[in-house]
Amino acid sequence: MNLNTIRAVQRPASADEISTWQDGNAWLAGGTWLFSEPQFAVDTLIDLEQLGWAALESSADGLTIAATCRIAQLYRFSPPPEWTAAALFHQCCNSFLASFKIWNTATIGGNICMSLPAGPMISLTAGLQGVCTLWPRGGSPRQVPVTDFVTGNHMNVLQAGELLRSIHLPVSALTRRSAFRHCSLTKLGRSAALLIGTSGKAGDLILTITAATHRPIQISFAHAPSAAELRDAIDAQVSADLWFNDVHGSAAYKRHVTHYFAEQIRAELATGGSP
Ligand SMILES: Cc1cc2nc3c(=O)[nH]c(=O)nc-3n(C[C@H](O)[C@H](O)[C@H](O)COP(=O)(O)OP(=O)(O)OC[C@H]3O[C@@H](n4cnc5c(N)ncnc54)[C@H](O)[C@@H]3O)c2cc1C
Repeated sequence: MNLNTIRAVQRPASADEISTWQDGNAWLAGGTWLFSEPQFAVDTLIDLEQLGWAALESSADGLTIAATCRIAQLYRFSPPPEWTAAALFHQCCNSFLASFKIWNTATIGGNICMSLPAGPMISLTAGLQGVCTLWPRGGSPRQVPVTDFVTGNHMNVLQAGELLRSIHLPVSALTRRSAFRHCSLTKLGRSAALLIGTSGKAGDLILTITAATHRPIQISFAHAPSAAELRDAIDAQVSADLWFNDVHGSAAYKRHVTHYFAEQIRAELATGGSP
């Protein structure tokens, strides 16, 4: 849609060109959300496209995803075979309500900064122990784990004008075994629950719960838990007010499917052997 409050569009070649931040400014990534509804508080768009950040940089340390990387670019990425958990890339891209047409425009950073419970790039990067690099205006860069970046439904730790630069996925997470479960009330609908489990050679388990909760919840076990341990840990760490109640599923339903999927993930990863 047209945004008829916009009076200026800036296209900086470097983020440093934006040294001060005014009320009414908004970073523009793919624009798939910004242009989807009126933005009455926004009068200036600052387009990230000209910054020219490399979309994906892989190294022995892992994968660095630029905030401006498109969903379609991540989908097309060919990971090294030893990155067993990279199967999650396709699984999470396919968990958008959005079709491939949106994938060609929407960015990973835009999805994380939207901070919606059903943001599948949040699920992916949280599940793979991703760390965000944030660039404040006029301050030093800082690093924040994805699990701490999102603080609630459409809420995160970004300060005014702070830019999400990239997300780093460590090789130690990418080489774990993974299990994925996802559901929505309608085919290709918005996610009601998206759970990711990963397991290392020591048989430990990291369970990440998203979509069903207001923000990502990550629960770590040093060893493979029993079904009862897993159930108790979820109930201990997800308080009643954290279950996300909306038209895509009641809080009670989301709690139910979370327990159901978590047990499937536990059983799947318990049988596997080393990656
Ligand atoms: C048909 C359709 C289906 C959708 N389905 C889903 C879905 O299933 N799940 C979901 O979560 N979302 C969904 N969305 C919402 C949205 O399209 C996605 O979240 C998308 O990934 C946003 O990325 P973008 O690059 O288009 O962000 P933009 O629209 O450009 O920006 C989104 C917000 O993030 C800010 N922002 C963007 N990049 C940065 C950055 N690097 N640093 C700081 N702030 C930044 C912007 O200022 C803005 O406030 C859908 C949208 C449409 C139109």
